[in-house]
Amino acid sequence: MSNKSKTLTPKLVKKLWAAFILLVLLMGASYIGITSYFANMHHQETAQRLDAEVANHVIAEKFNDASPFLEDGSVNKPLFGDLMHDMMAVNRGIEVYLLDDVGSILYSVVLDPNDKDATKNVSLEPINSFIADKGENFILGDDPRNPGEQKIFSAAPYSIDGHHGFIYIILAGSKFQEVSSTLMGQYFAKLGLGAFLLTMLFSVLIGLLAIWFLTKNLRVITGTVRRFQEGDLTARIENPNESDISIFANSFNEMADSIVGNMDRMQSVDLLRRELIANVSHDLRTPLAVLKGYIETLQMKRDTLSEKDKQEYLQITHDNVDKLSKLINQLFEYSKLEAEQVVPVKEPFSITELSHDLIAKFKVLAEKKQIALEMERPEENNMVFADVSLVERALQNLIENAIKYTEPKGKVTLSLRKKGKNIEINITDTGSGIPVNEQPFIFDRYKQVNESAKRQGSGLGLAIVKKIMELHDTTITVLSKPKEGSSFVFNLPAYQV
Ligand code: ADP
Repeated sequence: MSNKSKTLTPKLVKKLWAAFILLVLLMGASYIGITSYFANMHHQETAQRLDAEVANHVIAEKFNDASPFLEDGSVNKPLFGDLMHDMMAVNRGIEVYLLDDVGSILYSVVLDPNDKDATKNVSLEPINSFIADKGENFILGDDPRNPGEQKIFSAAPYSIDGHHGFIYIILAGSKFQEVSSTLMGQYFAKLGLGAFLLTMLFSVLIGLLAIWFLTKNLRVITGTVRRFQEGDLTARIENPNESDISIFANSFNEMADSIVGNMDRMQSVDLLRRELIANVSHDLRTPLAVLKGYIETLQMKRDTLSEKDKQEYLQITHDNVDKLSKLINQLFEYSKLEAEQVVPVKEPFSITELSHDLIAKFKVLAEKKQIALEMERPEENNMVFADVSLVERALQNLIENAIKYTEPKGKVTLSLRKKGKNIEINITDTGSGIPVNEQPFIFDRYKQVNESAKRQGSGLGLAIVKKIMELHDTTITVLSKPKEGSSFVFNLPAYQV
């Protein structure tokens, strides 16, 4: 894991470098290609402009003294021999051709009559355009020695002794080409090397800067991830929205938050579990110790104890066994609910009837404590859609608590009221009430508000109620004022007949 994260940046940098070098090479090659093409064109155009008049000059200077044709109509070859020597002394790249009026080559010193590949005709179209433009425009013409190739040329018409045609001079002939390509090769080798070195120098500088800037955010993120990995749970990427890879930066921050959140939650769950075990074992131990004490006394003083004392001790042991079994039942019930093993079986039933039954069941207990246990508007019948045994369990816990935490002469009222699509169930007492700062915690398992409460119950009753509410997708709220009383309110979906 740590190796992977350590190699992340260098790998990326390598890829960026590879892409960058490829880009530089491609750009360099295209630059040299384009430059050489235009340099060549520029050179040819210049050469053609400079030597545009050469053909006219030949006709004016050479054909004045001697005709290019002999008396028998054949070509005056010695004249062309002289002419070529003169011309080549000035420019070795020049090749002179004598053409007739349809572009057929009548004679040239450079053309071997036995050369089968050499062209015997040249196209007149570029020649006519050249003459019409007076050599002002760049035009390429056929190269008789290299069929298919186009060269710069100079041309002029002649009309001598009844012969009509053109003097056609290739300005960049084979010799020119030979010299030019050698020079070009050397020139481009130098240009290429110079351009390469300079480009490399600038590329390395720009590349270093670009890659440094590009990977800056990545380095920040990698550093933060590593810090987090090494145990600094507060490590977060600062200003994630300003990062070039803000999605990644934000995701990391969110992930770190949720990891820390989950760790906190697990710690608090663990703390509650330990608290529960400690409290449960304490609560189990107390009635067990009492039981043990009374049973031992009964065993030891079997003969000396009065019948009345024996009955009293037996009653105490009986009450403690009840307490124990109630606590164990509650624990069992709560752990089943928490493990999500309970699936509510929802059905329509009369919550009014259920309330009547429960009031009848708790009437004796309430009367014993001189508490008035009543139902508001008992005649109205309300139907709900819920799990009847779970709702009964919740109501039972709430009524039990109300009686438990209300002083004699107090009152416990159960009211059912239709509210929209729900039935609101309210259990109100005139008991001790719950301090405001304790109210948010009473539904947590094993939370008991005060020491006297600790002695009276298991602290699981309201936690069970809360779980039952969750199974019905509803919540329970408490309204309470110390010394005045408490109201527990929840809603269940009404069943419409
Ligand atoms: P217990 O078994 O201790 O009653 P519960 O979970 O039923 O556990 O209740 C949690 C705590 O909430 C109680 O210990 C008590 O302090 C407080 N409480 C619950 N119901 C009432 C009530 N009707 N009046 C006053 N305090 C109450």
